[in-house]
Amino acid sequence: MSDWKDDVEILVHEGKISVPYSWTVGSTLSRFYCELRDNGKIWANRCPSCGTTFVPPKIKCINCYEEPHDWVELPGTGTVETYTVVRYEEPSMHPRKAPFVYGVIKMDGADTGIVHFIGDVDPEQVKVGMRVEAVLEDEREGNILDIRHFRPLA
Ligand SMILES: [Zn+2]
Repeated sequence: MSDWKDDVEILVHEGKISVPYSWTVGSTLSRFYCELRDNGKIWANRCPSCGTTFVPPKIKCINCYEEPHDWVELPGTGTVETYTVVRYEEPSMHPRKAPFVYGVIKMDGADTGIVHFIGDVDPEQVKVGMRVEAVLEDEREGNILDIRHFRPLA
C-alpha cells in the first residue's frame, strides 16, 4: 500500500515572520527605566547578602539568589571592558547606522557590565580600559536607549 506522500516532492520556502509583541519589564527594570526617564539618573541594585551591585538591576542575585533590594545611584562613568565595531547594515536589528561600536561598560559603583553603544569617538580609537561617561537623550521614553551612548571622558 503506498502513501500519496511517497510521490510528493517536499518543497522548502525561506521566509521571515514579523511577530510584534509587548511585555512587561517587571517592577525592578520599571524602577530603573523610570529613574532614567524622569530624573536622568542611572541606578543599580545591590544584593544585601553578597554585596554584588547590578546594572541593569536584577530581580535576583545571580550569585546567591537573594533579592537585591538596596538601590544605589551611579555616577554615570565607567570603563570599557570589551567592544566590537559593527560594520554592516541590518536595519531590522541595529538601531544605528554602521559603523558603530557596541561595548560592555563596567560602570563605576557596579560589579556587572552593561552592554551599550560607545559614541562620539572614531571606532578605531575605542580601547579596552577607556574611561567613558553616559550621555542621555534629551527626550527620554523609559527604555535603555534613553542612554544615547557612552563617550570617552574628556
Ligand atoms: Zn548575592
